[in-house]
Amino acid sequence: MSTNKTVELSVVIPMRNEGPMVGALFARLIAVLNATGKAYEIVCVNDGSDDDTQARLLAQQQQFPSVRILELSRGFGKEAALTAGIDHACGSAVVVMDADLQDPPELIPDLIAKWQDGYEVVYGARRSRDHDSWLKRTTAKAFYALFNKLSDTKLPPDAGDFRLMDRAVVEALTTLPEHSRFMKGIFAWVGFKQIGVPYDRPERQAGESQWPYFKLFRFALDGLFSFSTVPLRLWTWIGIATALIALSYALFLVVRVWVYGIDVPGYASLMVAILFFGGVQLISVGVLGEYIGRIFRETKGRPLYIVKRAYGVDEKANR
Ligand code: UDP
Ligand code: MG
Repeated sequence: MSTNKTVELSVVIPMRNEGPMVGALFARLIAVLNATGKAYEIVCVNDGSDDDTQARLLAQQQQFPSVRILELSRGFGKEAALTAGIDHACGSAVVVMDADLQDPPELIPDLIAKWQDGYEVVYGARRSRDHDSWLKRTTAKAFYALFNKLSDTKLPPDAGDFRLMDRAVVEALTTLPEHSRFMKGIFAWVGFKQIGVPYDRPERQAGESQWPYFKLFRFALDGLFSFSTVPLRLWTWIGIATALIALSYALFLVVRVWVYGIDVPGYASLMVAILFFGGVQLISVGVLGEYIGRIFRETKGRPLYIVKRAYGVDEKANR
């Protein structure tokens, strides 16, 4: 099978250990796609699953030739898997969605309708986050507030990765060479005419979320460090502020010696000052490290993912 240039719609789905989801996903997705009357392809990216995802995908492909499978050589993470799928999608419009049916396929016709109205990016806008835990909702809200404050790229807080993109946007995405793929930021950064279509996000239907909290936290930090240099520049201001405080304290000490003469005890304040500034300096070194690590990773120029085997897809060069 070769890449079909007449594909109008590509649906890209990153999958890691989604074996239990495959059947239900395809049943709903294919019904919706057939009803659109468009020539479509479904690009499934198997992100190093160690369950039966691959076997189930191959079985689906036997039934539905419009299914294409990219099997990555290992788990590269959702962001890299998404990038792989987007790179290999050839539709005039590309829909990106999760495998766990949290992004309802039934919304796709609405996305297409807005695209036909002339919007180049149509994203699914979560109406409420009622299904998420209180902790996840609050931390997500705090993250978006912080991100939008620190970065020039503004993230719509209700948008996930579920979206339709015009070919022009997809081409723009593939020109971004960076390895830190914070897709939410990248999607926002490329610009274009964007609009949200509200929907209720249901709970994951089966399987498990691959995002434990510490991974989410790393992910949030990754997003911030990739899209803002404020954490780096912050230290200038912290440095100036502490220098000013130290200066006033020095003046105060000098005046006190004038007035009361020299007194020796001062062990406690010295200790506190040393420990405090030691801590502050270590944090600032850590922040430098975050950026240097990023520079290191980018300069190595490794590919973002490695396709072990592609089924029904023209082998394009790995990036
Ligand atoms: N996913 C992936 N690689 C990973 C983690 C997740 O391809 O390392 C896929 C997963 O199979 C699903 C989508 O990314 O299709 C969203 O994952 P999940 O449902 O775990 O995230 P959540 O909905 O909890 O944000
Ligand atoms: Mg999910």
